[in-house]
Amino acid sequence: MLGKIHDLNMSAQFPIAIVGGGPAGALAGALLAADGREVLLFDEKLAWEKPCGGGLTHKALQQYSFLAEAASASNPVEHCELISPLGQRARFHMRYPVAIFSRLALNGLLLERARRAGADVCNERVTRIAGTSGDWQLITPQGEYRASYLVLATGARNPFRAQFLSPISPSDLMVTAGYFIPGRSSTMQIQFLKGITGYMWVFPRTDHVSAGIAGKMGEISTAKLRRILERWLEERWLEEHGLKANGLRLDGARFYSHILPSFRTQTFETLEVCGEGWAMIGDSAGLVDPITGEGLYYALRSAELCAGALLAGRPDEYRDRLQEDVLPELKLAARVSQRFYRGQIFGDSVLEKMVSLTAQSTSFRDLMSDLFAGIQGYRDLRSRLYRILPTVMAEGLAGTLRRPWHSAGSSGGGSEFVIDPLAE
Ligand SMILES: Cc1cc2nc3c(=O)[nH]c(=O)nc-3n(C[C@H](O)[C@H](O)[C@H](O)COP(=O)(O)OP(=O)(O)OC[C@H]3O[C@@H](n4cnc5c(N)ncnc54)[C@H](O)[C@@H]3O)c2cc1C
Repeated sequence: MLGKIHDLNMSAQFPIAIVGGGPAGALAGALLAADGREVLLFDEKLAWEKPCGGGLTHKALQQYSFLAEAASASNPVEHCELISPLGQRARFHMRYPVAIFSRLALNGLLLERARRAGADVCNERVTRIAGTSGDWQLITPQGEYRASYLVLATGARNPFRAQFLSPISPSDLMVTAGYFIPGRSSTMQIQFLKGITGYMWVFPRTDHVSAGIAGKMGEISTAKLRRILERWLEERWLEEHGLKANGLRLDGARFYSHILPSFRTQTFETLEVCGEGWAMIGDSAGLVDPITGEGLYYALRSAELCAGALLAGRPDEYRDRLQEDVLPELKLAARVSQRFYRGQIFGDSVLEKMVSLTAQSTSFRDLMSDLFAGIQGYRDLRSRLYRILPTVMAEGLAGTLRRPWHSAGSSGGGSEFVIDPLAE
């Protein structure tokens, strides 16, 4: 114990401070406290409905089985519908459901675990951090605290990033806008958009849906994204779900907006996540998939890796563990993100081709299902694609012969509702 404290350059009389009690901070707090460390965990809001889809993959549920066990807090969604920018639709069954949580429930559950493990959870906003490794001072409106080690888990709007690193560049961020709409659905919908690096989604939770839109910062404004989303929801979604008929309108819903890290390749290449006596985890470190916007798994995983390194008495190993475990996938996602959203393949856009193959081929649907489950990574995606290509082509051809291909916008029972953000 003393040896560990010495290695950590920690003073035994101070606890470990975690700033931010979202998924990253709360899990780190639970793991450290469960191992007997004194933990001070600060969150200015405690459990709250953080703007989010709330979708957790099968991979995340397998790794953090206590979340799978909290089944009643989430909606296990088995059906997904993809809609291409030109309106093609592909609906498929997901072999492993996505568990969609309200963030109020998810954060509450994680904070409660931290509390039960022995972390001292403080409902306070940290306004200033001073000091150095081994003796940090944290100032809140309620008081002043001292800590030996600092874990920053303050999310994408990390107010302390500039103090420890440089702030996140706008080119490494996405802007999002969305609504929490009362109502139910059993299908997760993803609508891709023409000319936007991002997408719209409808993620059904237990008693409402989180519907949102994301686009690269600088490419499009939040106000414009909001207008596109509102038009889509009012013209299509409410109608499709019979909610309009029930008198439900968007004005009964609650608006949200937030930023989301979406790091470029060069940013991941030079990523710093820890220094003398401090570490950043989750969104505050930028650990989000730049293609899908998935951040919950990475928040939990980085918390686990950081806590593991601290408990081993080698906090700097967090950097290496992240390099081995998490960063290869995120770097690859950053490298192919532009090609995914804007690239062409066989004379069609990648997005149109992906949706049409999903509609036509069982093997391709299996692949999509595994991607949504998080069990198909990017690194071996290419080799799987090559392996299934002959079957996919044969299934695609069979589908084409059964139902002649007219145009992208009219296939698969699709619609004429083209999402073109440049068209007013
Ligand atoms: C619109 C949107 C949709 C998304 N959908 C999904 C999805 O479906 N699936 C998925 O996997 N990911 C999704 N994400 C990403 C996901 O929300 C984040 O990756 C995840 O919340 C990161 O967790 P975190 O703990 O790092 O940060 P956060 O969840 O942001 O938590 C940070 C916490 O720190 C607290 N805090 C901040 N500053 C201070 C301070 N000074 N003092 C005290 N407390 C402070 C905040 O109150 C907050 O609770 C989405 C993101 C957005 C914006």
